[in-house]
Order: sequence, then C-alpha cells, then structure tokens
Amino acid sequence: MKNKTKLCPAIFLDRDGTINHDKNYLSDEKQLKLYKHIEKPLLKFREMGFKIVIVTNQSGIARKYFTVTKLKRINSKLIEMLKKLKVKVDGMYYCPHGPNDNCDCRKPKIGMALKAAKELNIDLKKSYMIGDSVRDYIFGYNFGGKGILVLTGHGKKQFAKVKDEKQKPLAIVRSLSQTVEVIKNDYEKN
Ligand SMILES: [Zn+2]
Repeated sequence: MKNKTKLCPAIFLDRDGTINHDKNYLSDEKQLKLYKHIEKPLLKFREMGFKIVIVTNQSGIARKYFTVTKLKRINSKLIEMLKKLKVKVDGMYYCPHGPNDNCDCRKPKIGMALKAAKELNIDLKKSYMIGDSVRDYIFGYNFGGKGILVLTGHGKKQFAKVKDEKQKPLAIVRSLSQTVEVIKNDYEKN
C-alpha cells in the first residue's frame, strides 16, 4: 500500500534570536522573552497552510551549561507562551551536541529537518527556514528548501558573513514580520 498522506510545507524557525531574545546560552525559562508582535507573522503562516517547526542548536548541553531536562522545560515554556498568543507549534527539535561532536543534527546539517519531515509529513522542498545566523538560512537550502536571514539576535553580526558564502539567502530582513511578504511572493511563484 502506498502512503497517501498529504505532505505539508513548513516554516522552520530558529529559537534564540529569532523567536525570543538571545541570552547567550539561555539556561532558565525565566529568561525567555518573546520578540514583540511575533504572533502576527506566525499566525499568517498558519493561515497560508504552513506548519510551524522550531529547530534549535543547543550546544549548551554538550558544554554542560544546562541539562536536557532544563532545556525541555524551557522549550515547553516557549510553546506555552506561543499558545497563549494562539500560535500552535507543530514541532520542536533540538541538537544537544557541540561543534566538534560531528553529529548529523547540528545546523546547518539537516538531521532535525529530516526527523521533522518524517514525523510531521513535511514537504521540505516547499519549506523555508528563518533564523538569525548564516547556518540557519543555509540549513534551509541544505534540506532542499530556502532560507531567510533575520537581523534580530546575532543577525547583524552574521550579516557580514553572508558575503563569504556561496549560498546567499532568499532575503535578508529586519524582523520576522517582514518574512511573510517574502515567503508569500516566493511560494506563489512555485
Ligand atoms: Zn546534534
């Protein structure tokens, strides 16, 4: 029997510096602070038929700055905060490894995207990644979709590194709100 489950496009989002203020190895849920008006673009994406998936590198675990239990508590709190703003998050994935662990899940490697695609029936080719670092937008292209760099969080510093990359982002925007127009236009072309 063929699996006839309909695949859905997704908006993949980085966590720290993209959805919430970056605290450099945020290690307690009390430090979570969402960017203002974050719900508007996210609700718009849902309306357009995208799933919402958060993918975050959390090397603070490998570095022993905090535990997996703590990270899970922070992630749950974030999902709860978004839920209060009526935004449903379909999936949340993290990489607990460090840069030298050579894992398959640390962005820009695509382990988290593959896992999400399998578990949530996502069409990666029609999906987008939004984040404040070069490795985020490159992750989008690596999984077969596209990526946008936002200039929140580390974005302004990361912006300088784009010129050294062969792969450029679909767009570079000031905030998450501005990604809606970019993605809408691009998505309708395909
Ligand atoms: Zn990993």
